[in-house]
Amino acid sequence: MTYEPVIGLEIHLQVKTKTKMFSRVRADYFNHEPNTFVDPVTLGLPGALPVPNRLAVRKCIRLALTLDCSINMHSKFDRKNYFYPDLPKGYQISQYDLPIGYEGFMEVDVDGDDRRIRIRRIHLEEDTGKSMHDGDLTLLDFNKAGVPLIEVVTEPDFVSVDEVLQFAKRLRQTVRYLDISDADMEKGQMRFELNMSLREAGSDGLPDYKVEVKNIGSISVLEKVIAFETKRQAAILAGGKTPLQETRGLRDMTGETVAQRLKEDADDYRYFPEPDIPPLQFDEHYIEEIRSELTELPQHKKSRYFNDFGIEPDTAEVIIASRKRAEWFEQAVTGVSEKKTAKEIAKWMIGDLFGLMKADRIGLSQVKVAPEQLRSLVVMLQSGRLSGTLAKQVLERMYREGGTAEEIVEREGLEVVSDESALESVVDAVIAANPKVVADAAKNPNAVKFLLGQVMRETKGSADPKSVDRILQKRLS
Ligand code: ADP
Ligand code: MG
Repeated sequence: MTYEPVIGLEIHLQVKTKTKMFSRVRADYFNHEPNTFVDPVTLGLPGALPVPNRLAVRKCIRLALTLDCSINMHSKFDRKNYFYPDLPKGYQISQYDLPIGYEGFMEVDVDGDDRRIRIRRIHLEEDTGKSMHDGDLTLLDFNKAGVPLIEVVTEPDFVSVDEVLQFAKRLRQTVRYLDISDADMEKGQMRFELNMSLREAGSDGLPDYKVEVKNIGSISVLEKVIAFETKRQAAILAGGKTPLQETRGLRDMTGETVAQRLKEDADDYRYFPEPDIPPLQFDEHYIEEIRSELTELPQHKKSRYFNDFGIEPDTAEVIIASRKRAEWFEQAVTGVSEKKTAKEIAKWMIGDLFGLMKADRIGLSQVKVAPEQLRSLVVMLQSGRLSGTLAKQVLERMYREGGTAEEIVEREGLEVVSDESALESVVDAVIAANPKVVADAAKNPNAVKFLLGQVMRETKGSADPKSVDRILQKRLS
């Protein structure tokens, strides 16, 4: 029998805010001296009172709206009680029955087909501290405790690993565009929990078990875990048994999982409303204000670039990879009406310009070429004022020194020479210097190409190749 996976994801995102979820201590804890970003609220000291971070709430609503969720205009925080050393209060402040957002969706595109993955809920909570084990010792660092987290929970709508990976990448890109989270996985800013079961391929309905794998810190590991679990669960099902409903953990980065605990002794978190924080009450005006701040999403940009400018999806993908790139490109094509011009701009941007940047390991924010100047360059190229070779030289000058394309062309005399009399003397000199090749030209077409190349070399690429070709043909016949 062949099986297909049924998958639901829970994704944690660290929200980009200056301070923690419920107190004023700094949230950018990464790489700082342990236990220096702590205060009475973080440590749960008696009498300390949590106050929700306004910006974190706003960013959570921003993501909920972007994923087409409904908003609970009346929401609240709840205590999720459990004991763990990295949880100083003995409970985590989270949201239970009234999450900020619910019932949304995000689309994934599988072989040209859009499929909707439903979002069950989006809520806010706080991160835990970090435990490190050193021999018999466990060391605790509470800098991360209380950092704002958004949790996104999907319905079990994924039926292939490709859908899961695409969803994860799109969500990462989306939260970066919207400035909700940097979602840097190496810093633990985006983490996954995989819920997975298998069913007979093509059947529907949910299997009556699911396996949960916690704390997956990268998209590539997520992919490996799905592959591992598919094999493991298929072998059990093939033997006529049902996989245990359990929580599994990662052994290492290979994707192999090991049983941790059975789900039968279901967690009893004794959720109850957080008594120290008044409920959240939003009004329409506030939600509309946040809605008006939403930026165009990368996938939308991609289809718009295709419709407006004829930019191919592969090229668009490179441009939309970050908001900075997309904005740079959009500035460069401002006022451009010809698709041909926009496409050429895109080509020069991701080809030559990115090539120069890559060699120097710099990003667009450090680049001296203004987007408008790349446009001028392309316009000169298309009007025949510059040849490809010259345009490359001008771009490199702009890249090294800044300035406008026009200035550089004039100052350096880089314009295409199509003045026939000037070219004729160069052609004659080349013919005189290569008698053998000239003798060969009647039967060997490559000989003419060689001569043309020599002329281009003599003129440092500034000759108009069409004119050179015409003069050469005239001289040789
Ligand atoms: P729990 O109460 O164990 O947290 P939920 O029903 O709330 O379980 O679902 C948690 C996650 O598991 C959700 O992302 C959901 O989509 C996913 N899920 C639920 N049932 C299945 C299943 N049979 N196979 C795979 N994933 C599932
Ligand atoms: Mg779960």
